[in-house]
Amino acid sequence: MHPYWFDVQHYINGQFVEGERHFEILFPATNEVIGRAPEGREAEVDAAVRAANTAFAYWSQMPPSQRRRYLRAFAEGIRAHEEELALTESLDVGRPIRENKASYVARVAANIDFFADFAVMHGSEAYPMENGYINYVLRQPIGVAALITPWNVPMLLETWKIGPALAFGNTVVLKPAELTPIGAWKLAQIAHEAGLPPGVFNVVHGFGPDSAGALLTQHPDVSLISFTGETVTGKAIMSAASRTLKRISFELGGKGATLVFADSDLDLAVETSVRAAFFNQGEFCLAGPRLLVQRPLYEPFLERFLARASTLQPGNPLDPETTLGALISREHVQRVRAYIDQAVAEGATLLLGGGPPHLPSPYHEGNFLSPTVIAHVQPHDRICQEEVFGPVVTVAPFDSEEEALAVANGVNYGLSSVVLTRDVGRAIRVAEALKVGTVWINDFFVRDLRVPFGGMKQSGIGREGGQHSLEFYTETKTVCLSN
Ligand code: NAD
Repeated sequence: MHPYWFDVQHYINGQFVEGERHFEILFPATNEVIGRAPEGREAEVDAAVRAANTAFAYWSQMPPSQRRRYLRAFAEGIRAHEEELALTESLDVGRPIRENKASYVARVAANIDFFADFAVMHGSEAYPMENGYINYVLRQPIGVAALITPWNVPMLLETWKIGPALAFGNTVVLKPAELTPIGAWKLAQIAHEAGLPPGVFNVVHGFGPDSAGALLTQHPDVSLISFTGETVTGKAIMSAASRTLKRISFELGGKGATLVFADSDLDLAVETSVRAAFFNQGEFCLAGPRLLVQRPLYEPFLERFLARASTLQPGNPLDPETTLGALISREHVQRVRAYIDQAVAEGATLLLGGGPPHLPSPYHEGNFLSPTVIAHVQPHDRICQEEVFGPVVTVAPFDSEEEALAVANGVNYGLSSVVLTRDVGRAIRVAEALKVGTVWINDFFVRDLRVPFGGMKQSGIGREGGQHSLEFYTETKTVCLSN
């Protein structure tokens, strides 16, 4: 048995529950088996939804300030387990542990804290009429929320949904990604220790189609679904959810562009675009895998960008020196490499990487790919259009702002983009013209939990964050009061 071993369980109605069938958990950096998780079927999904439904009766009636006490204890527990969660997330995902310790686990806890406070502090609308009547608006919890999450930043996305769902008075059944089940199990343990009442928060493990994920989307007692994952999965869930008319919120794929204008601060442009391209091994919906650089800066920028990308250190994610982690699975590495191979076969030039780095045993068995930079691509090439989800960036020059915008907007996705410029007027103009849900100017992945987050086009439906989460996770009722 591996020195790290996890016998992951479901968490249903306040109890940790075994399953009949199990699947293996692999450490992406070595492909060693580090544990097993149960696959939830009808019985587990049904038990979890029933427990959540029963708990809803009192959780939804509890004053928000009392719910805040539970949620604060949960967030405090996350912070108290920072070391353990940082390790868990690296074992689950393959991300360097230094990232988890630098800010990741703190953000996981902040997701719970923020919404616990927001649910207590928010106001409501009131419309006094000239005849003396007053209309006021109540926000009420909806019911059982199914939260379905992906493997790339699991605990961050899980708490991004658990926080508002619970704070606004709903109860939860979480179905974490099958490739990263450990974090959700740890979160359940921490919620349990924090004293969250039974049934308020449940976790059922399993797969998507014909498994726990799909069963949740079809369950008649699930009222709303918050899903983050691939666009094709979103389409399948939307279709399943339509049968029982569930409320949905989708955060889907992305294909961000990083626009580097010639007036940019070169140091800042290099650092920001390297981070946008390679954070989380590029397995990041908000990543900037399409680098567009204005021509006078193209050559000097590229030289610096390649030099900086070459310093990224792949290897054991648990080593604090490692700065580039492993990809999630062997199949995923093959998928990413197929994009690179096709681009090169069609005439693109490989400037950096393209294959696995040389690593000592046992990491030579892991899912590593060197930072990869590809030039001489066309905007319509597959590698420039589809989500590659790896440490792979295409780089291309542009002349005018209009040309850069046309390329940046010329994809089916619309999640986020980065703009690097010192010209405030240009920054404002370009941000307005980009067809994406979030634009970062001279930075990347700065998050304020009050702002709307989500995507345009095929990148999603709806927004979450602050008031927008309140709108998604509550039902609105207008009361008209006669004078
Ligand atoms: P995925 O769509 O394959 O899986 C996501 C989750 O959905 C998993 O828990 C999976 O088991 C479940 N699922 C799959 N099929 C299902 C079905 N038919 N019914 C119900 N559940 C089902 O995504 P992934 O490969 O785990 O994650 C990577 C994707 O997530 C990328 O496309 C990435 O861009 C996207 N993502 C988006 C955001 C965002 O905020 N927009 C954030 C992170 C990741």
